[in-house]
Amino acid sequence: QVPLKPGRSLMDWIRLTKSGKDLTGLKGRLIEVTEDELAKHNKKEDCWICIRGFVYNVTPYMEYHPGGEDELMKAAGTDGTDLFDQVHRWVNYESMLKGCLVGRMAFKPIAAPKVQFLLFTFSLLSSVVGLLYPFCCSKTSFILIVFSKLLALGLPLENRVNNVFVCYDWFQTDGLITIVIYTKQKDMNAELVIADCQDKRLRGEIILDDHSYLLEVDLEHAVQEDFAVNIAEKVGKVEIILKKRDNIHWKVLGQPLESHNTFIRRVDRGLFYRKCKLVSKAEVTHDTKLFCLMLPKNTHLQVPIGQHVYLKQVIAGTEVVKPYTPLLPFLPLDFKELSCHDGAHIYLMIKIYSCGLFTQALDHLQIGDYISVSNPEGNFKKSQVQTSEELFLLAAGTGFTPMVKLLNFALTEVSCLRTVKLIFFNKKEDDVLWRNQLEQLALKDERFEVQFVLSEPTKNWVGKQGKISLSLLSECVKRSRKDSKVLICICGPTPFTEQGVEYLKDLGYSQEEMHAFIA
Ligand code: FAD
Ligand code: NAD
Repeated sequence: QVPLKPGRSLMDWIRLTKSGKDLTGLKGRLIEVTEDELAKHNKKEDCWICIRGFVYNVTPYMEYHPGGEDELMKAAGTDGTDLFDQVHRWVNYESMLKGCLVGRMAFKPIAAPKVQFLLFTFSLLSSVVGLLYPFCCSKTSFILIVFSKLLALGLPLENRVNNVFVCYDWFQTDGLITIVIYTKQKDMNAELVIADCQDKRLRGEIILDDHSYLLEVDLEHAVQEDFAVNIAEKVGKVEIILKKRDNIHWKVLGQPLESHNTFIRRVDRGLFYRKCKLVSKAEVTHDTKLFCLMLPKNTHLQVPIGQHVYLKQVIAGTEVVKPYTPLLPFLPLDFKELSCHDGAHIYLMIKIYSCGLFTQALDHLQIGDYISVSNPEGNFKKSQVQTSEELFLLAAGTGFTPMVKLLNFALTEVSCLRTVKLIFFNKKEDDVLWRNQLEQLALKDERFEVQFVLSEPTKNWVGKQGKISLSLLSECVKRSRKDSKVLICICGPTPFTEQGVEYLKDLGYSQEEMHAFIA
């Protein structure tokens, strides 16, 4: 992120896009852009970028780009899709850059993987046929016979990636429709299954490492609002059980939607949102609130530790998206209390900035209002903690949010952990989130220690002062034994996280011993 000039905030950009000014220089005309044409527009004062086949004139946007002009220029005159996906694929550029749309890339036939695979299979078969051909009636019929056999086996060939093969089936009884997805993965669990069924539209996504399998159909008939998702973890079988609304026989499951029965990289799958109801909003500090959102009835979604979701709101006619990290409603001191964590609610602790575009709009939501919530994202892996003996959590401000579930998991489920230390950086005493709960937890569990560091303390503050620094980290982050397995997690404003990682490297910690939470 770079500091933007005054008058160049997202709200200013939204205003400019609504002003009716010609932002493309084409007076609203949309054109077809060839690669050669795109390449010509590669200067700051004349910069076109292609994202997913659509070309945008980003010159008017340069000064408004939170990542800075240089970042945008990296894709000048080229296809910036990969770069965009690496940095912030969640940003709703279609809506934000609507006014900058120049047109579509001129069509250039590209062999889709499926087609390539079929061509490859055909050519392979053709070679086999070449050998066996003398024994067959005709080359074509031989190929057709082999293909029909493959199809009869019901093998959707494209759903095999890295030797992982996913397929589905469905059956019905008088009252139920059961859809079964077979992943054959041993370590399947509830966090890897995201299912939504609203208005006859069923979407079931299974996360398998960095790939995603999707089942997406417009159901043949209506269903009731209480589906069930069952997971046979050891064999990787997932069942989605729908209750028929009317007791009739279904001839088909429904109409397949565009991405139905596909198994692709997660980064290539668009973000899916569902509308969640705001059920409560409670003050945590003078500027931070705990929002409780209720998932719709037919939704199965569990946000894994260390992952975030995106919230989407329409602000001044433009869709705006921001990431937030779900946490628990409180720090459980007695772990039985967690039964209130029923899976139907998502809790978010959000700091309301006085001039924040998104958080101001969020703060104006009334109980009962709806907001769109995406599927989870993030690259933190629980296994990083499971093998650790000492865990250090460096959090600044709302960078505390990913630490909550992590702390709970570490103290309840990781038996090899000897110590967990939270070093919590804030400006002032009254900015500290859940101070009381943290202190109580430290009293209750001797493995846990918390240290508060204030950058703008009052005279009465007797604790640690300052910002993140080498000397502070060398003092607070120490291995208790030479060969201890250590994990250090860090989250906060980008400069805090970046500086922290550098200091930790200087102190001799390896990349594997650190996890930085970033977007
Ligand atoms: P903007 O309109 O973008 O900014 C307005 C002003 O507010 C800025 O000029 C600045 O003064 C101040 N400001 C805005 N953003 C920041 C910032 N990030 N750091 C410091 N000052 C800022 N926030 C939470 O409150 N809770 C979370 O759980 C949470 N999780 C996040 C997870 C990830 C992966 C990331 C990347 C960010 C997370 N954030 C979280 C930050 C959140 O996404 C927004 O950036 C934040 O809510 C501000 O949005 P805004 O539109 O209100 O502010
Ligand atoms: P804040 O402005 O109140 O600052 C809290 C503390 O952070 C300060 O006291 C200081 O110690 C440190 N800090 C702030 N700016 C710094 C800088 N430039 N250099 C070094 N240290 C600095 O914090 P906030 O308003 O609560 O912001 C929290 C940040 O955490 C936001 O930027 C948010 O985007 C980020 N966040 C990220 C994630 C994630 O997963 N990536 C999750 C939650 C929050």
